Amino acid sequence: MSLKNKFCPKCGHEAKELNNGLCAKCYYQDNQIRVPKEIVLTICKKCNSILSKGKWIKTDSWKLYLTEELTKRIKLPKEVILDNIKVVETGEEGKVRLWLAINDEVFTESRRISIIVREKMCSTCNIKKSKQWNSKIQLRTDDKLIKKILKLLPKKYVIRIKPVTNGVDIYFSDKDKGKSFAKKVKSNYNLKSKSSFEQRGWDRLKNTSHKLPVILLKSD
Ligand SMILES: [Zn+2]
Ligand SMILES: [Zn+2]
Repeated sequence: MSLKNKFCPKCGHEAKELNNGLCAKCYYQDNQIRVPKEIVLTICKKCNSILSKGKWIKTDSWKLYLTEELTKRIKLPKEVILDNIKVVETGEEGKVRLWLAINDEVFTESRRISIIVREKMCSTCNIKKSKQWNSKIQLRTDDKLIKKILKLLPKKYVIRIKPVTNGVDIYFSDKDKGKSFAKKVKSNYNLKSKSSFEQRGWDRLKNTSHKLPVILLKSD
């Protein structure tokens, strides 16, 4: 036995350092690591923002944020350092793995914790989405008739009216509202119509890009 070494009174093993009178292993066994039972996160998957105390905060990754939150909430005995933490599973029956250092020794354990991740669109993404058009009418006729038609627009669904050569482009937030308005105007004012579409983004469900109806209305 070297003079520097001490004995753990609990297990009798030699140890370079004692923690509160115990070797690292006995200290680890005797002192409970307190992990929260539940953690609830509200995230915006579109932009990786997190809802925290009523405010949306931008993050690089919500998973990283979750680990940071857990680190803050785990209560450790004085001599224990949280070396690493990994989220193994999310959900009601979630699981985290902890690496705990005492002196030079690292202990590892898994803990059950329910990790509830709720998805919600954040305010910024919501505004962005509401400004996106989903159908468009290209109205090409004389000014007098254009004025008349503009008065009939379902304003609630109109995002923008853009003057162009020979007429106006009318952008609708709703796909069907643009189409139905075009249909109505066409028959009421005896206009000719031609339908096409513009592509935007990607529709994962249909495995194709979003097709947005564009209706050209013009007088003969
Ligand atoms: Zn011991
Ligand atoms: Zn967002």
